Amino acid sequence: MALSRQLTPTPVLLDFLAWAARSGYSVREHPAYGGVTPGVHRTGSWHADGLAADLNHGPNGPAERARLIVALGEAEQRGLATTYARDGTVGSASGHQNHLHVDVGEWSNLGRGLVRRTPPTRSSATAVARPAAPGDPVLRSVQARLNRDYPAYSRLVVDGVEGPATRTAVAEFQRRSGLVPDGVAGPLTRVRLGLP
Ligand SMILES: [Zn+2]
Repeated sequence: MALSRQLTPTPVLLDFLAWAARSGYSVREHPAYGGVTPGVHRTGSWHADGLAADLNHGPNGPAERARLIVALGEAEQRGLATTYARDGTVGSASGHQNHLHVDVGEWSNLGRGLVRRTPPTRSSATAVARPAAPGDPVLRSVQARLNRDYPAYSRLVVDGVEGPATRTAVAEFQRRSGLVPDGVAGPLTRVRLGLP
C-alpha cells in the first residue's frame, strides 16, 4: 500500500518481522519471507519493495484475532504503521480483516479511516497514554467521516482544526454533492455526510 512517504526506517520493520516469526506468526508478502504473491501485490508496491508485510497466526478466527491485536500493539510501539479492522467493524480497512498489514509509512487504518502516525521519538517508547484530542469535536467528526468514506481525497489529521487540507477535502465533498463548495462544514454539509 503505497499510501504515504516512508516514515519508519526499514530495519525497524525487519526487526519487527523477526520478532513476529519468533513469536509464531506467519509472515507473508515480503521479499525476505517467501516473496510477494503475483496478482496480490504489484511490482512497485510496498510489499514488493520490502517496506510492508502481512501477518497471520493460525486459522482465521477469534484466537487469531487476539494474536493479531497483540502484534498490532507491538508494531505500533516500534513506530510502524498498521492496517487492520481492529474493532471487528469492516469500515475502510475491509481488505484487512483476516490479516494484519504492517508497513513503514505514516498512515494507520484500524477500520475507521486513516490515522496519521507521528514519527517515533525516543520518549514515545515509554509513553502509554495518547494525548487528548484537541480542536473542535464537530469538525473532528467531519474529518473522521471524510477519511472513512472518501479516502480517495481525504487523508486528514483528525484534530478538529480547520486547516487547508480539511477545507480542500470539505470543498471536494461539497462539489461532488452539488453543494456550494466553500470548504466550510456547515449543517447542510454535515447532514450530507450522514452526521447528526
Ligand atoms: Zn498488506
